[in-house]
Amino acid sequence: MTTAVHWPNSLWAAVTPPRQPAPPLEGKAEADVVVVGGGFSGLSTALHLAKRGRQVTLLEGQAVGWGASGRNNGQVIPTMSAAEPDAFVQRFGETGERLAHLIGQSAEMLFRLVEAEGIDCEAEQTGWFQPAHSPGRVRLSEKRVEAWRRHGSPAEFLDKAETARLLGSDFWYGGMLNPTGGHINPLALARGLADACMRQGVTLHENSAVTSYERERDGWRIRTDRGSVLARALVLATNAYTDAVVDRLEPRISRTIVPILSWQMASEPIGDNLRATVVPGRQAVSDTRADLRFFRYDARNRLITGGSVLGAYNAESRVAARTSENIGKAFPQLAGMRFTHIWSGRIGITQDRFPHFHKLGPDLWSWTGCNGRGVALSVSLGRELAAAVDGVPARELALPLTEPEPIPFHPIARRIAPLILSWYKRRDLAELKLD
Ligand SMILES: Cc1cc2nc3c(=O)[nH]c(=O)nc-3n(C[C@H](O)[C@H](O)[C@H](O)COP(=O)(O)OP(=O)(O)OC[C@H]3O[C@@H](n4cnc5c(N)ncnc54)[C@H](O)[C@@H]3O)c2cc1C
Repeated sequence: MTTAVHWPNSLWAAVTPPRQPAPPLEGKAEADVVVVGGGFSGLSTALHLAKRGRQVTLLEGQAVGWGASGRNNGQVIPTMSAAEPDAFVQRFGETGERLAHLIGQSAEMLFRLVEAEGIDCEAEQTGWFQPAHSPGRVRLSEKRVEAWRRHGSPAEFLDKAETARLLGSDFWYGGMLNPTGGHINPLALARGLADACMRQGVTLHENSAVTSYERERDGWRIRTDRGSVLARALVLATNAYTDAVVDRLEPRISRTIVPILSWQMASEPIGDNLRATVVPGRQAVSDTRADLRFFRYDARNRLITGGSVLGAYNAESRVAARTSENIGKAFPQLAGMRFTHIWSGRIGITQDRFPHFHKLGPDLWSWTGCNGRGVALSVSLGRELAAAVDGVPARELALPLTEPEPIPFHPIARRIAPLILSWYKRRDLAELKLD
């Protein structure tokens, strides 16, 4: 028997062509590698392992793309939200250098993979733009452009006038443009990656929540309610949803992040005349605020945007009103915008705002903590994790492995995490001190 999957009220769930669900795991099976989680990380890892000739089984607890991968804004962004490329190098040396390079190339990698696999996911490589929300942040944008260029990424600085032309608004002060970025329909990408996995011979089981795993002989026995797989290697690609499907699947991962709820919403399709005045080049945009302003068009010319809100009471209507107000401030011609779809998803935030990579046991790999920038990153990391599982030596990989560091008083941290939003707002108002 298959349990019904409850999809969020997302635009993506409404418009994306469905795919035939893969059957749940039944009975005992064997594989070289089991990947747990059918988001971008798990699907890309499985696909790249299969391309390396490995026999892979992917177990997804709900449906492919049900987690963050099918709920996000679909912005393909080749940077992290807080960790700067030089910080990776300072902390992890040559491995950090390789990680910075991987991140800088990640948007390009995603669009080329979509092309090579013939995935129809409304991909638009129109560029990603990060406008500066205060005069001081312009200096931050300049520094970021300079740093990313040193790491081989084609970032460009736009001044205030160029920014106003690109966005159709003089609300921002300048910013960083990366022409390799853009946007996709994320659920269509997840489903397309699943199809690509199946073409490469990956055995996919949906509705197959992993309840536990343990060492058996020289491998791992991975169990679901109705079956188990014995595999040499195991990749946990459950990220911010690690304890969302099965409580305590792997506390070493879930305790290193606090999941923050991010709200997304879609407007009615916007007519050609109005659209010609608002981001006419159709770039994906997310600004320098920690409490982000972000938006992009989808293939039906809806504006896909969103935001955050403090507290659970009436959250959906409060966040919609706040987002509509924010859009109206930057684009008065869009004032009073209403939304046809409103949904939310979990973003995994780490204490140091770096992504974390772990080897939790022999041939047991995991990563977590996208900190809000995981579309391009998780697809590229999938290729890297596949290489790691396949025995490529650490000195060639972009995976700075660390021990998991549980956040102290994690249950309390989780409860108070939403309050971080008020701190973000205060920090957004203050100017940064940059040398
Ligand atoms: C609302 C929102 C907006 C975002 N916007 C952007 C954006 O515009 N650009 C950007 O770069 N990043 C964005 N992100 C981040 C990005 O979506 C994520 O970093 C990325 O999708 C993570 O992919 P993943 O495969 O690692 O995790 P997920 O997609 O969350 O996949 C994990 C999967 O594991 C499964 N799972 C969990 N437990 C089990 C179990 N016990 N057994 C089997 N399966 C299990 C879950 O069902 C889930 O499908 C956003 C995130 C959210 C939530």
